[in-house]
Amino acid sequence: MLPKTKMTIGRSVLLIATMLISLSAQAQPAPTTAQVQMIKQKVGSAIKFADDSWAQVFRYNSAQFQMPGVFYGGDGAYYDPNEHKIFLKMGFLWENVYRASEMTRFQDDGDLGAIIILWHEYGHSIQRMLGVKFAHTIDYELQADCLAGATFGMAERAKLIDPGDEDEAHNSLLYARDSSGTDHRAKTAHGSGSQRIASFDLGRKGGANACRLPWPQTLSRR
Ligand SMILES: [Zn+2]
Repeated sequence: MLPKTKMTIGRSVLLIATMLISLSAQAQPAPTTAQVQMIKQKVGSAIKFADDSWAQVFRYNSAQFQMPGVFYGGDGAYYDPNEHKIFLKMGFLWENVYRASEMTRFQDDGDLGAIIILWHEYGHSIQRMLGVKFAHTIDYELQADCLAGATFGMAERAKLIDPGDEDEAHNSLLYARDSSGTDHRAKTAHGSGSQRIASFDLGRKGGANACRLPWPQTLSRR
């Protein structure tokens, strides 16, 4: 009898766990296979666009470009400087895509909600390629937002940006802002909503140069 009872308890725990999972998932539906495909396809084009555009910017500035790897997996989104690889969790991308499309009342697919995350992480890979050094996390983060903005600006000039895309990008940045009162020296600091948007817009309007990257030429002039 004992093992059987144990199994029943095990089952009901499992059932409650399943119920909790489906309850929390109700807030936001899980992506359909087609939606996952859509995200992969859009993010795939955004990776290619970033690779091509930044290879060109690096060439122009006589710097060595090394294409970062991009993989689906890991937790959230991050850049691993040791492997020079970007990791994007599909569930996290979907969260941002869903929120972005919800914001435009589903009139847009919300693609920039995910793409801006990729371009931000791509910004971290650019920092690594150029040996950027800052004292605080927040400076790396805001520069990565600026670089994401610069990529957005290049895509805009290439006529790849839809009308709702800017709002979607802003929305993703705002969602990942620091809660008010966060110390700017904190290890996790990414910047307030207005700081993040301002950095993004700086890069978007001013291009890569506005993000103050230490290009080899700039270094040798010092
Ligand atoms: Zn970051």
